[in-house]
Amino acid sequence: MEKILIIEDEESILMALEDNLKLEGYEVSSAMDGLKGLSMAKEQRFDLIILDIMLPEMDGFEVCRQLRQAGITMPILMLTAKSQEVEKILGLELGADDYVTKPFSPRELLARVKALLRRIKLPQKEIHIFKFGDVEIDFKKYEARKKRKLINLTALEFSLIHFLIKYKDQVVQRNSILDEVWGNDVFVQPRTVDKHISELRKKIEDDPPNPKYIIGVRNIGYKFVSGE
Ligand code: CA
Repeated sequence: MEKILIIEDEESILMALEDNLKLEGYEVSSAMDGLKGLSMAKEQRFDLIILDIMLPEMDGFEVCRQLRQAGITMPILMLTAKSQEVEKILGLELGADDYVTKPFSPRELLARVKALLRRIKLPQKEIHIFKFGDVEIDFKKYEARKKRKLINLTALEFSLIHFLIKYKDQVVQRNSILDEVWGNDVFVQPRTVDKHISELRKKIEDDPPNPKYIIGVRNIGYKFVSGE
């Protein structure tokens, strides 16, 4: 059974979410403030976190940032109420994987949850450990290291690099990346791929502006080159 943590202070939304997710067969835990949610997410293993932004004690942005900083890579779906928040989430420095704007329908939310959970399951089947240069990625444990030091890749970044590695030395189109990594049921702009690639490069490349491994192919997409 997949475990989901909901961090949300509005009781009516929290209860509706809990009911819907339990009906779908998920094991659900919840926290009603940011600090409590953060400590639960650090202590227990969850498959996914649903995280509201406006929360008592610590806001959702900070919870997300601290989780990623602690090396926790499970997917995070943010709940937002305002358009300014969407812009900030899309800035991606936070490490959130997706967002849903309030008010949302239970169906929409479930679709996002399923897409995110499917995304993190995909990689496990194909490549276990992959090494290139001074980087080593364990796709089963969701651990990535550079120069033997742990680097914090998000669930989405794991999927993204897994897909590129699967087709290494070949050019993959932006649209194929979107279909494979984000899934058809999630609306995202092709530009989103570029933003995530740039974040990924910052984490794995020695000189991100002049990448050695993830090469951009103008107007088409990207190519992973391991040089081996
Ligand atoms: Ca709230």
